[in-house]
Amino acid sequence: MSKVTLDERRFRERFEEFNEIGATAAGGVDRPALSDENRAARDLLVEWFRDAGLEVRIDEMGNIFGRREGREPDADPVLFGSHVDSQYNGGRFDGVVGVLGALEVVQALDDAGVVTDRPLEVVSWSNEEGVRFQPDMLGSGVYAGQFDLEYALGVEDDDGRTFGDELERIGYDGDAPCEADGVHCYFELHVEQGPYLEDAGLSVGVVEGVFGFSWMNVAFEGQANHAGPTPMDMRQDAFVATADVTKAVRELTATGGEDLVGTVGSVDVWPNAINVIPERVEFTVDVRSYDDDVVDRAVDRVREEVAWAADREGLEFAFEEIMRLDASAFDDDCIETIAAAAADAGYEYERLVSGAGHDASYLNAIAPTGMIFVPSVDGVSHRESEFTEWADVVAGTEVLLRAVREQATV
Ligand SMILES: [Zn+2]
Repeated sequence: MSKVTLDERRFRERFEEFNEIGATAAGGVDRPALSDENRAARDLLVEWFRDAGLEVRIDEMGNIFGRREGREPDADPVLFGSHVDSQYNGGRFDGVVGVLGALEVVQALDDAGVVTDRPLEVVSWSNEEGVRFQPDMLGSGVYAGQFDLEYALGVEDDDGRTFGDELERIGYDGDAPCEADGVHCYFELHVEQGPYLEDAGLSVGVVEGVFGFSWMNVAFEGQANHAGPTPMDMRQDAFVATADVTKAVRELTATGGEDLVGTVGSVDVWPNAINVIPERVEFTVDVRSYDDDVVDRAVDRVREEVAWAADREGLEFAFEEIMRLDASAFDDDCIETIAAAAADAGYEYERLVSGAGHDASYLNAIAPTGMIFVPSVDGVSHRESEFTEWADVVAGTEVLLRAVREQATV
């Protein structure tokens, strides 16, 4: 294959310019899905796609595609990209690296005069983060047939505004059907969001799959009473039981399976007053592993711990598993393509599994899929201090370029 070189300077300048949109004082970005800042980011992206000669297509979920024709126009395209929505006060790298990296790949091919056999499509998925509209990965989820379009458009934010109305407001309620119509394969470049690659001193990770997870809602109902006169042996304290379960989740991760992680992340307490015994607590539990049996057993254990804690404290309880996603192993051929691309580019790499969900998890259900990780400094993400060394961003993009070219060759 003829040599194709990334234009590191163009790529870097574009990255900096893009992240001026919604920039925060602490060095992050605030561009939640379908906000005015998200619209501005989309507008700039579409402008750049057009400047790069890509044919832009916006679908009913506001997913943005940029297509570059190949020598064989009827062949299924190689699809690659990520997302440009952010957490509230999130980082500059999460998602953006994968979309702007994808754009750099097609421009580098243009610079070198290389036409691939298959068409190439760069994509930016809507609402990956799921901070303003839940669930997360909504755009890719509809595209991959995991959610109904009607359901997704009707999802509301905390102010009661629907996804569909907000999409229309920012002008991204596109006409193209939101469904996969023949995808040869999907690649996504993303920051690791964990400490593994940095600790190992590597620029590139070949992702073999994504953890499965379970989300649980728990409620304890006890008795409110005055914090002073009520004897300790007469209390039905919903928060004490919550604390017991939280501790049990932590202990469970030590014995429940090597890669098991567990988190009590959201807790609401009533009446939440300094001098009143907590009457009601609602909280969430998130458990994840690459082994679905480990997740199964962890869910059973959490359910038991909830019942025991309620019994000890004399509480009513409710337990509900609200979401379950099995672990997904990426396509062997895509994994090997990425590994070979990393080796050819001269990067040492390791194979790893993602603890976080990605658009690639849904794409994996409908097309052969692979992911490339680049290191997150201190394993930090979803924070303004999120950082990846630029050389590592370039390394990951170089691997993406090679993997895309390989798969685009018939
Ligand atoms: Zn992301």
